[in-house]
Amino acid sequence: MELGLQNKVALVAAASKGLGYGVARALASDGAKVSICSRSADEIEAAAKKLADETGADTLGTACDVTDPKDIETWVKRTVEQWGQIDALLVNAGGPPAGYFKEISDEQWQAAFELTLMSSIRMINAAIPHMTGGGAILTITSSSVREPVERLVLSTVMRSGVVGLVKTLADELAPDGIRVNNLIPGRIDTDRVAHLDEGTAKRLGISFEEARERSLKNIPLGRLGTIDDFGAAAAFLLSPAASYITGATLQVDGGMMRSV
Ligand code: NAP
Repeated sequence: MELGLQNKVALVAAASKGLGYGVARALASDGAKVSICSRSADEIEAAAKKLADETGADTLGTACDVTDPKDIETWVKRTVEQWGQIDALLVNAGGPPAGYFKEISDEQWQAAFELTLMSSIRMINAAIPHMTGGGAILTITSSSVREPVERLVLSTVMRSGVVGLVKTLADELAPDGIRVNNLIPGRIDTDRVAHLDEGTAKRLGISFEEARERSLKNIPLGRLGTIDDFGAAAAFLLSPAASYITGATLQVDGGMMRSV
């Protein structure tokens, strides 16, 4: 099936590695021009070059901390100056820290609000004036929006706000031809998941391998997902091939979530 992404312009946030990079690679492989960002200038420039080498696509790498509104403006402006429009936006950022409710300070709540919810609002606000030909927005949340995960209270609370935003914008932006959806990664093999497994192993006094084995028992397909598994689903939802899908939350989790 053709996704119809040839020459479309895509913004992909937090994409020097991990899920963002997987989504950028899937979009670029289908012919999109892809503008990626993350905080480290060196890392994002290297990632943009690697992306171009791997896919042959036009790519742009910009240093941007998505908690900084000025950085977001600069990233979007640079992309539009280069390619004239925006057709697709992947909203993404690093994850907030883990911890039980009683351990979380006011400052950590405020930082998670800026990192997860305000960054989503600001990226969407900055992109939509340039989505004049319609397009698609996709957010990344977590299974915690369906079922709270132990020690991920910051993620659960802030990402639930993102899902509310997606449902609201699916209504409000439909007249402009802009679709808005949300994707839930289960356990996709990235540095973030390795870091969480290391934390679990340390807390329970078990090895990293044992922590990972335990988590695999909860995944019917019996393995972690790859960034390409995730990228394929994201590229579809961001493409014209998904033209009648908006306001949806889909999981890419190997069957991990049991909720109906
Ligand atoms: P990752 O492998 O750690 O990659 C994170 C990426 O985000 C890096 O490119 C990092 O680059 C960038 N980044 C972090 N903070 C940023 C900021 N403030 N502004 C701009 N870029 C930033 O993580 P991941 O696994 O891809 O996760 C991506 C998101 O999905 C996270 O919010 C995570 O919690 C969520 N998630 C992931 C999974 C999973 O299975 N992997 C499951 C549930 C939820 P710099 O450090 O250079 O900025």
